[in-house]
Amino acid sequence: MERPNAWKEYTEENLKLVREIGEEYRGMISRNKTEREWTNEIVRRLEEAGYISLQTAILENRVLKAGDKVYETRMGKAVLAFYLGQEPLEKGMNIVGAHIDSPRLDLKQNPLYEDTDLAYADTHYYGGIKKYQWVARPLALHGVVVRKDGSTVELVIGEKDEDPVVGISDLLIHLSHEQMEKKLAEGISGENLDVILAGQPLDGKEKDAVREMVLHLLKESYGLEEEDFISAEIEVVPAGPARDFGLDRSMILGYGHDDRVCSYAELKALEGLKETPRTTVCGMFVDKEEIGSVGATGMRANYLENAVAEILNLTGEYSELKVRRALQNSRMLSCDVSAGYDPLYASVFEKKNSAFLGRGVCFNKYTGSRGKSGSNDANAEFMGKLRSIMDRNGIRWQTAELGKVDAGGGGTIAYICALYGMEVIDSGVAVLSMHAPAEIISKADLYEAVMAYRAFMLEA
Ligand code: MN
Ligand code: MN
Repeated sequence: MERPNAWKEYTEENLKLVREIGEEYRGMISRNKTEREWTNEIVRRLEEAGYISLQTAILENRVLKAGDKVYETRMGKAVLAFYLGQEPLEKGMNIVGAHIDSPRLDLKQNPLYEDTDLAYADTHYYGGIKKYQWVARPLALHGVVVRKDGSTVELVIGEKDEDPVVGISDLLIHLSHEQMEKKLAEGISGENLDVILAGQPLDGKEKDAVREMVLHLLKESYGLEEEDFISAEIEVVPAGPARDFGLDRSMILGYGHDDRVCSYAELKALEGLKETPRTTVCGMFVDKEEIGSVGATGMRANYLENAVAEILNLTGEYSELKVRRALQNSRMLSCDVSAGYDPLYASVFEKKNSAFLGRGVCFNKYTGSRGKSGSNDANAEFMGKLRSIMDRNGIRWQTAELGKVDAGGGGTIAYICALYGMEVIDSGVAVLSMHAPAEIISKADLYEAVMAYRAFMLEA
């Protein structure tokens, strides 16, 4: 039952593709760190691949037919892509879905304050983080500010070589006696994750002159007023590019592999479909997974259903019954990262059922915690079908669950899509240091995910 290491089986041709895909992905996650940036990049690439906006198709009352490609975005933070197949949509779709939000710190609506000649921005963290990992490291600001007149300013500070970075201070070891006695979870408090923005007073100001300096710079560079923070979404993320990792460059160290690595594999697989598929293929890139898939851009919103209804309408086939059939008859890979086995923390893993870096794309029949609670437990029949597709296409794959029974657990978007009655299974790439500011993946697993997702799109 042990799965072989994928690297051992690669030909020169495989290795070339592994390197190329790794390189492209590394560039993409270095340039795009937020769900909005990622959405823009996905849309750009989908349009290049011949996808048109579903909203445009609706406005122009176009007739959609097999071979057409459409995409839909939600509030600039989620994307759905459809490649219409030869079979009627009511027969179901081959869906591959991943999330594009990652754990980070968000600026509060009223973030700015000054204390002892330093200007700070107050944050509220987003998603599951170990707070101690976010202090004493270079951070960047990415986001949008919407002014009262509706105009939008996009801002990225801390990524170019010549940019300054920001960050959060940690207590010096010399005075940390009390802090070091605390539990790891309590060593750094969420309220103390405040980012230092400036340290020089603005000339001619008496009160809060350093805070005034920040406002002055924001005004000068971006035309912003302090009140504009109220309608802003500014994310504090690790600064700097993703890097090749390991002396052999077999891995990538970077922020937000969870879940950009699966999103990228999905996009790459979509781009690789050159002929009209038999079954309609749907690629989903969704927001808010890290906080429970809530909100209008999260998987729990009804945009998949709505988009399917719109598409059926433009093919002249709309009925509520056909929408329901299209969803229930679908098959889905819920693509999200898996916990990579870490020998340094072996005690939380059960080795026979763990994901190993370099052994290929993972399938998780179930996730959840404490008795599979909250998981979508995929059908044995569906798993059987997948094994057959994977082996037929020479994909290197492994199965895993998230750590030992009772060690903890986690969830994905799988159970939400399963509400429609479709077949769903979790599938992804193994990650070390999941949710840390710098996560690690193997380039081999990324390559296998691209190949696996393409095979699924064509043959499920
Ligand atoms: Mn995830
Ligand atoms: Mn996650």
